[in-house]
Amino acid sequence: MLARFSIVLALAAASLAPQKKAEPEVCPWCKNDPELMAKAGVVSHGPLSIGPKGSADIAASFATSQWVFLETAHLRWASNLGPCNVDLKDKPRVEAELAKLHAVLPLVPEKAKKLDPFLRLHLFAMRGEDFYARFQKLLRVTDADFPEKRQQKGPYMGNGRFLGESEKFEVVIHALRATHVPFTQSFTGAGVTDAVRWHFREQHKLIASVPAEEPDLRQDRWLFPHIAHNLSHNFLCAYKHFNYDPPVWLDEGLAHAMEKEIAPESNTTDGEEGAYRDTSNPLEWPKLARQIEASGKAVSLAELMHAKEFAQLDADANVIAWSKVRFLIETQPEKLAQFIGRVKGQLDDKGVPTGQNLEDLQRNALRELFGWSPAELDAAWREWLRRGV
Ligand SMILES: [Zn+2]
Repeated sequence: MLARFSIVLALAAASLAPQKKAEPEVCPWCKNDPELMAKAGVVSHGPLSIGPKGSADIAASFATSQWVFLETAHLRWASNLGPCNVDLKDKPRVEAELAKLHAVLPLVPEKAKKLDPFLRLHLFAMRGEDFYARFQKLLRVTDADFPEKRQQKGPYMGNGRFLGESEKFEVVIHALRATHVPFTQSFTGAGVTDAVRWHFREQHKLIASVPAEEPDLRQDRWLFPHIAHNLSHNFLCAYKHFNYDPPVWLDEGLAHAMEKEIAPESNTTDGEEGAYRDTSNPLEWPKLARQIEASGKAVSLAELMHAKEFAQLDADANVIAWSKVRFLIETQPEKLAQFIGRVKGQLDDKGVPTGQNLEDLQRNALRELFGWSPAELDAAWREWLRRGV
């Protein structure tokens, strides 16, 4: 399945043939001024070459829409979103973010009824770096832990500076599926309706391509947590280099946890047609987790560890995986970081990364770090849940 990066397909370059090229506009907020950009953590406003190696850049390939680019320390963004109105309910959040951006870009207003495409992307990029910092904190790592190349000495940390990958993380936001589908098809070979994540093996980088066509996702308050869910998957895969699929329960549980730290009501589900915003389960998840546990039907960690595909987790299993990860984040964050480090960086006798026997690896790491079997973790989780924290 696509989202698990399990297939490598030839690049269909034909669909990316250049069309007429629009002149890039100057950003009204940082004026593409190197000094202002540096203050705001902006490395470049592009145009950036994003996606598969050797393809025409996205702005040339899909020239009917206006693209805005932004590169920060760890992420590279492309977006063809138009302007948007700020929803009254969302005003406090937007104003808090505008104030934060205003502190580094004085031209940015502290209040706005409407956000233009440049301002929207500046805000996304700022939040993207905040989220990167959050994820590094979760892993208990900093940039200094990741050398440019694999080292002979010291712990195995992957193959590059970006959590273990060589290139920055890429995010492409599409106003319409009309550009998302052909763009992602050009490197995955499949036409996928919803958000697509992909690892470019040759370039050692991960991308998330996100269509924002559904009514909720047209609003940035729902779009960003949805992007963060996808980035959580990409960051975890990238950690110590993407050599093999991480355990599904941990991968999905973490992505839900990261998304819900940003917006508790936001829920992304990894489906057959990519990752989509899912509103089928409107109950609050802490409440839902307690209900499922009380019914005696909560899936055990041992069962969760068997899952090899996201599709094997039903709606309740998603909630339980999230709740168990949440339990570890809140009660044992240091040990969780070590656990993730072991799960992501397994080497064989010759020092070659291997995803063999991940279940055994997890059981051993649980035992050594926490002193628990999977059933003992379940018991501790149940007790935590019943205390109602
Ligand atoms: Zn700018």
